[in-house]
Amino acid sequence: MPLEFPEDTTLASRYVKQALPMMIKNKIAPNPCNFALWYAYVSNRDLALNKKLDVTIKEKGTCPDIVSRELFKKHVIKEEIALQKNLQESLSNVVQELVSSVNDTKNQTNTFTQYLETSLNEILSDPDPVHIQETVKNLIKTTKDASFLANEFQSQLQTAEEEITALKQQLDQREEDAYLDALTKVGNRRAFDRRLVELFQDTDTDATLVLVDLDHFKNLNDTYGHLMGDKVLQGVAKVMQKTCPDSALAARYGGEEFAFLIQGNADAGARVAEQTRQLLGKLLLRKKSDGQVIDNITASFGVAQRTAGEYPEQLIERADKALYEAKETGRNRVTMAA
Ligand code: GH3
Ligand code: MG
Ligand code: MG
Repeated sequence: MPLEFPEDTTLASRYVKQALPMMIKNKIAPNPCNFALWYAYVSNRDLALNKKLDVTIKEKGTCPDIVSRELFKKHVIKEEIALQKNLQESLSNVVQELVSSVNDTKNQTNTFTQYLETSLNEILSDPDPVHIQETVKNLIKTTKDASFLANEFQSQLQTAEEEITALKQQLDQREEDAYLDALTKVGNRRAFDRRLVELFQDTDTDATLVLVDLDHFKNLNDTYGHLMGDKVLQGVAKVMQKTCPDSALAARYGGEEFAFLIQGNADAGARVAEQTRQLLGKLLLRKKSDGQVIDNITASFGVAQRTAGEYPEQLIERADKALYEAKETGRNRVTMAA
């Protein structure tokens, strides 16, 4: 079971509401590790885990910390650890092979150098042309062997370099995936948080946050089904990727809420928001099962530019207020923060 929590906000809140009382009742310390464990328990992600927790609670009346930690490692982050181990092992194998090749080559080179020295001594000490000829013949052969070894080493180096490049690509991909929303392929909340911190570190550049919340999305889910709702989220994310400037980030903030983090002022933010709003108006999705068309997808936008001395939370709060105002004044509109 990978460390992913695909539930939407409503379902996730339900799980939290179920998990917490259980943890209190069973005297489980409310640390992040235990929390993930009991979240997994109530969401029935892994029946083996549920069984083990049930048995432990039945036997001991609680789940001791040491058991919780083991269960967490085994059931919650199992694949993550395994994947990481795999990569580590591959990398260390490549390096080990290289080290042993380097050693082999070093030994051969030493032998070759010694042979050269001996030959030189022989040539100097014995002027007999027949003997010199013999020595030169042997020298040519040994040089050929050494050059073969050097070529061999060169090609091993090449292979190792290719393997290391491939491993690095895998690592980069994993790093990238960790910042992508699995459903919509725009940045996830982690990517949003990271960019927000970056933007606040650079106080010389303007920074603007645009919060995007789909209108009446609950109705859409109720009318067309949750799967279609997911398709709409993907469609919205695609539109956002189109309108997102190169230096900006489009991210899924949570549930049916998205965000743009823009290097630019409020006007730049408003332009991106308005363009997105208009393109959403043209978004058309068709339900495969019965050909039903969904073309009434709209969203509301709250735009706030960072002000001097403001904290990230304050910026989010102002953008959120503007978004709320956009909802209150009729939805499908862009509202600027005060
Ligand atoms: P408003 O215009 O006021 O924003 O109304 P709303 O219905 O969009 O807002 P509300 O917060 O009442 O409902 C949000 C809905 O979004 C409820 C939830 O089930 C749905 N949702 C959240 N995440 C997902 C998801 O990943 N997939 C689907 N299909 N629905 C989701
Ligand atoms: Mg919402
Ligand atoms: Mg909404």
